[in-house]
Amino acid sequence: MIDAAKIQDAVTRAHTDNLATTTGANASYIPYLASVDPELFGVCVVTVDGQVFEAGDSRFEFAIESISKVFTMALAMEEVGPEVFHSKVGADPTGLPFNSVMALELHNDLPLSPLVNAGAMSSTSLVSADGPEERWQKILAMQSAFAGRSIQLSDDVNQSEQTTNFHNRAIAWLLYSGGAMYSDPMEACEVYTRQCSTLITAHDLAVMGATLAAGGVNPLTKRRVVAASNVPHLLAEMTMEGLYTRSGDFAYTVGLPGKSGVGGGLLAVAPGVLSIAAFSPPLDPAGNSVRGWAAVAQVANELNCGLYRIADSRGENSSAQ
Ligand code: GLU
Repeated sequence: MIDAAKIQDAVTRAHTDNLATTTGANASYIPYLASVDPELFGVCVVTVDGQVFEAGDSRFEFAIESISKVFTMALAMEEVGPEVFHSKVGADPTGLPFNSVMALELHNDLPLSPLVNAGAMSSTSLVSADGPEERWQKILAMQSAFAGRSIQLSDDVNQSEQTTNFHNRAIAWLLYSGGAMYSDPMEACEVYTRQCSTLITAHDLAVMGATLAAGGVNPLTKRRVVAASNVPHLLAEMTMEGLYTRSGDFAYTVGLPGKSGVGGGLLAVAPGVLSIAAFSPPLDPAGNSVRGWAAVAQVANELNCGLYRIADSRGENSSAQ
């Protein structure tokens, strides 16, 4: 393990160094998100052995949004297996914005990636259930198992999204017409919108990421949440599409699987080591938290966690352990 004082230093510095950044803007297409205080900023690291390092507003609750896609993907994959999941949802980046209709038009109404809105609704619809309520409870239980505490729906966020999600409803019908919607399309859209409307903190997000980093076992509760054999598929998708149309930039500069959401959360996972989470509402044009990206990148680079730094980092990592 990396030395604890070194991790806390990196977390504290990533928070202080990026505090003054004011670029980016809150998501405005969901009214609730536009109203969140843009000054809020928290950073948290959780290691695979359950150590927690925090700075700033790391216990402030914010909307999980797109980050929920990872956990619903995990649930659907647990149920149908990685091969079926792959064939029914796909695994390739679209190269287009997360809610692109054009991406569907270009690919016979098939979603390609489980981490864009289309693929996420397709994943939601794959979760076996007698109806939307049972599907929703399973998704909520999965988010809670990853976080190691009971995650709750925000009625305010949900209300704000359910009454404005017309674009996603159109996507759900296109998926249906392409044969990639596995329950009633409007039910899937409604449950997907709920799964985006739960509240988490940067601390929760880091625990969720550390569960992936630890191969599917939550390092705080010690409970297995997903099969170890499914984790590589989740991390691969996070690398390919986790940071929206800037996933390539993130892989190039940070070198870790990650996921962000328009609520301002951003996560990176260093497999076998730790996860780094940050929260700050103002976003870049692609939908990634500006300060979140900067803070997570800074911690990852200071701790030398990037997956692709084979030659020099193996040595440096081992001397840091
Ligand atoms: N609920 C949001 C939507 O469906 C999530 C988008 C995101 O975070 O990327 O548009």
